[in-house]
Amino acid sequence: MKEMNMEHVSNSKMIKEINEQKVLRLIYSEGPIARVDLAKKTGLTQQAITNIVNRLLNENVIIETSATVSGGGRRPIPLEMNSSNLFAIGIELAVKYIKGALIDFKNNSIKEVVKLVPLYKNESHPMEYIFNVIETLLDYVPDSKGLKGIGLSIQGLVDSKNGTIIYSPGLGWRNFPLKERLEIRYGSIPIYLENDANLLGVVGCLNGVLADSKHSVTFKFDYGVGSAFIFNGQLINGANYVAGEFGHYKTFSGKYAKPCHCGSKGCLTTLASISGLRRNLGIELNELISRIRNKDPEALRLYAKIKCVTAKAIANVVTLLNPEYILFTGRIIDQVGDFVIPVLEKEIKKMVPDTCSNFKILVIETPDESKTAAGLVMNYFLDIPLDKFY
Ligand SMILES: [Zn+2]
Repeated sequence: MKEMNMEHVSNSKMIKEINEQKVLRLIYSEGPIARVDLAKKTGLTQQAITNIVNRLLNENVIIETSATVSGGGRRPIPLEMNSSNLFAIGIELAVKYIKGALIDFKNNSIKEVVKLVPLYKNESHPMEYIFNVIETLLDYVPDSKGLKGIGLSIQGLVDSKNGTIIYSPGLGWRNFPLKERLEIRYGSIPIYLENDANLLGVVGCLNGVLADSKHSVTFKFDYGVGSAFIFNGQLINGANYVAGEFGHYKTFSGKYAKPCHCGSKGCLTTLASISGLRRNLGIELNELISRIRNKDPEALRLYAKIKCVTAKAIANVVTLLNPEYILFTGRIIDQVGDFVIPVLEKEIKKMVPDTCSNFKILVIETPDESKTAAGLVMNYFLDIPLDKFY
């Protein structure tokens, strides 16, 4: 009997938390919004809304704005996020530099820092640079109570739940407990990690081009190939939090099937990425582009092959997941997207069943990853903790 009561208490606490997050997210996405509209949209009682709003006002997370003048009667006071007093730090960990940004929840940049790094000597070496960048930014936080966390964007296999880097060849990390190292140093500041491509999908859904979409796939063609699959508004994580490794989708056979750093052969990233072209064919992206423009026959054959297998791999993903949107980004897309994307779209549409061919294509210039990583903090702060149901 006692156990059942405990369970009841923890369930009601969880529902309370979820309702509070629902209200907070609505105020973020639709604010300024009045209490009466929050009750209508959430289906919660006026009393429940009053209790939640009072808590959020006390915590200084939301503010009351002045009511607009309307004819007669009591005018409801709209609420909005206290966005200029809430802050996030975002860090991009790249092979040659560490970039950090301190932003407020309105996406205004307060301070940015870039630290160029030589070759990392050992697995602890990157930490010196990361600490340095974070500590520079911490000095600029206007009010430390408003700092809601530090987000980090990492190219590589990231276990975002446990905060470990499973494998990042560029940073020299294997099973590296990055979150733990940062928590030891920064105590109560929440730390969030995510793979760079997943980040784009998640933050794109929060306040970017994917904001009105529930089902999307994001592909990043850059130094490597990354992707993020969003289903029902949630990132598909997989059992070990490493789902969506589209770069290791097996697409090549024959003479182009090169060994991949993952240990396998014929992975998409071995040819359709900056590092793959460099490692396997000894060619830089710019050189390949100029040879294609000069109609060099061998370069044209390679381009045709890459285009064909990329379209096929994406068509298979579309057939399986039926997304509303396909988002393309990354430095390769920045350079050749203009002529490659229309061709890819046509090829993909030819290959998928009619039932899932009505997807829309979006292309964005490679965003500043440190700011996207700060967006991850906002996303967690506003997240509805659905995983607590499982
Ligand atoms: Zn691979």
